[in-house]
Amino acid sequence: MEKERYSYMDKEDKFIESVYSKRKIELVRGKGAMVFDSEGKEYIDCFNGQGVALVGHGVEEINSAVKEQMDKISVVALSFYNDLRAEFGEKLASISPKGMTQAFLANSGTEAIECAIKLSKKYTGKPGIVAMSGGFHGRSLGALSATWKPMYRKQYEPLLPEFSHAKFNDIESLKQTITEKTGAVMLELVQGEKGVVLADKEYVKELREFCTEKELLLIIDDVQAFARTGNFFSSQTYNIVPDITAIAKGMAGGIPMGACIASPEIMDAFKPGDHGTTMGGNPIACAAGTATIDYIQKNNLIEHGASMGERMLKGLKELESFDVVREARGIGAMLALEYKFKMAGVLPKIQESGVIPLTSGKRALRFLPPLCISEEQADKVIEVTKKVTEEFTQ
Ligand SMILES: *Cc1c(COP(=O)(O)O)cnc(C)c1O
Repeated sequence: MEKERYSYMDKEDKFIESVYSKRKIELVRGKGAMVFDSEGKEYIDCFNGQGVALVGHGVEEINSAVKEQMDKISVVALSFYNDLRAEFGEKLASISPKGMTQAFLANSGTEAIECAIKLSKKYTGKPGIVAMSGGFHGRSLGALSATWKPMYRKQYEPLLPEFSHAKFNDIESLKQTITEKTGAVMLELVQGEKGVVLADKEYVKELREFCTEKELLLIIDDVQAFARTGNFFSSQTYNIVPDITAIAKGMAGGIPMGACIASPEIMDAFKPGDHGTTMGGNPIACAAGTATIDYIQKNNLIEHGASMGERMLKGLKELESFDVVREARGIGAMLALEYKFKMAGVLPKIQESGVIPLTSGKRALRFLPPLCISEEQADKVIEVTKKVTEEFTQ
């Protein structure tokens, strides 16, 4: 068994370019909040495919919707109409922030952001976007222009002209950063990749008012936060309506899908030929998307996930008493534990104990639990994290 397990890792290393440093675990199966490796060891999945397994693994209702659609028709280009796509569009509009009833369908978060950038340019006639320090929006050259982290950007510069960054949570900084060429402001209300850093409520309110006053589009990147903050959209949690919003990650229960959403008035800036996609709006993804939203609604998963997250945050907050811990923070099913030191040794120990978290930088653990996580599983995540953190405190 051992020999075979490593042979697959060797093979993957040999043939698949990953650009990620690998964790030495080979995941072969998943069910609900759990994933299983090739030796049968089980883990609570708070890595969650970077948040894609939002509703958990192996959900029967989503799987059967996908299988059914595959048997019916799996390819319909956007040049044609399709029943499942129309239904998905209606479903998405029914949960979207007020008036945001049209979606451009894509296959990833980056593509949804790319669409938002182009739509903003077309609608406003201005090339510039101000994004925020700490923000992450993807790795394509357009999305990367809005992404903040110098390590991701530097080697690919020059990026898009007229893109700049204001200080997150600082309205004065934004006021100083905009120019006459700025058409939009783009940000995550909860900065996931940065380590679950929350926007202040007052700042978001001021930001919305400022954008309206200056006729700047407000673009909210909800790719990671979708359905995790106690509402489908983080803008709903913050009580604002953006102009454009992008979602992806868990929106189709694991099938690749992204969407750029806006009002028909803004979307109308796109005329045939202005943008495009071959795979976007694929009927299988649409079937999965509809089934995922249905499944979330029928099982009250947003409320459940948020309350489990609250329970976990309470547990993580108690770890602030350890002197190695800087801060525990989070909202809904997005949580982080930041240490005062580089935590290289912490992660393997937590994994050995049956929990797989994400990381943010070298000092923070990030937890994106599936919305279906049980009370018992949530408690185990905290218990394990506490035990390992305690060991590092001594
Ligand atoms: C993951 C992520 C993206 C990029 O999405 P991909 O599906 O990886 O292309 C963009 N924005 C945010 C906030 C993300 O978390």
